[in-house]
Amino acid sequence: MQSLEGQVAIVTGAASGIGRAIAKRFAEDGAIVVIADLMLPAAQATVAEFEAAGHRALAVAMDVTSEEQVEAGVAATMAAFGRIDVLVSNAGIQIVHPIDEFPFSEWKKMMAIHLDGAFLTTKACLKHMYAAKRGSVVYIGSVHSKEASVLKAPYVTAKHGLIGLSKTLAKEGAKYGVRSNVVCPGFVRTPLVEKQIPEQAKALGITEAEVIKNIMLKDTVDGEFTTVDDVADAVLFFAGASTNALTGQSIIVSHGWSME
Ligand code: NAD
Repeated sequence: MQSLEGQVAIVTGAASGIGRAIAKRFAEDGAIVVIADLMLPAAQATVAEFEAAGHRALAVAMDVTSEEQVEAGVAATMAAFGRIDVLVSNAGIQIVHPIDEFPFSEWKKMMAIHLDGAFLTTKACLKHMYAAKRGSVVYIGSVHSKEASVLKAPYVTAKHGLIGLSKTLAKEGAKYGVRSNVVCPGFVRTPLVEKQIPEQAKALGITEAEVIKNIMLKDTVDGEFTTVDDVADAVLFFAGASTNALTGQSIIVSHGWSME
């Protein structure tokens, strides 16, 4: 495994939660990190914190569903640092409803953030990675890339879809030295999950404690939440792999909720 020392990594959705922890882990490994997020002030606060710790970082405003904003963020990265070695496609949201009640507008919003966002950021970075004949893309999937849960049809659909995108990129990118892999976390207590606990309790008519114990952590081996650092470790493992031996793969980090 190689160190990311001196490498440039774009992490989408890195102003919060899992993305922020990945960016921090990369920075600690010596990478220059680009915090690309919808929320520019939060991205700038993250950069200020990283810089105070002696790391190099750049905040870019980016809605991953906008081709124009994605292209602009990638161009700003190239202007600042002249290279892009790693893309972590992490930005994501959750919306829960049963399928028969799912508003089409919300289905489309989920597809746009999870799938269009992954495609647009990949496409924009690839032209620079292919020219440099090196690069690594890591998608943040989910246990829901492998399993299904009630109320989460678009999330499950999109997270399964990321595996297909990643495998295709692994095949197309190989001759340019570009690798592609997916990290699939179980439940992590980020703002995305904190929001779901009361929503699921209401939708299913159970308490919040029951949502955690009987739904979110029911199938884990030890009843524990996965942490942002657990996920960051796995992402660094894929990002730092040195050859095409590790491409087209997905790894589940979920306290055994899902096993393969
Ligand atoms: P989070 O809500 O803490 O952070 C998500 C970040 O993405 C925020 O900073 C937000 O501003 C940003 N974002 C949202 N929409 C965006 C857009 N259109 N463009 C750019 N940025 C946008 O969420 P999290 O839990 O850290 O989730 C990160 C990723 O991990 C998501 O893809 C999520 O599906 C995945 N994931 C989370 C869990 C979990 O349990 N938390 C489990 C498995 C997978």
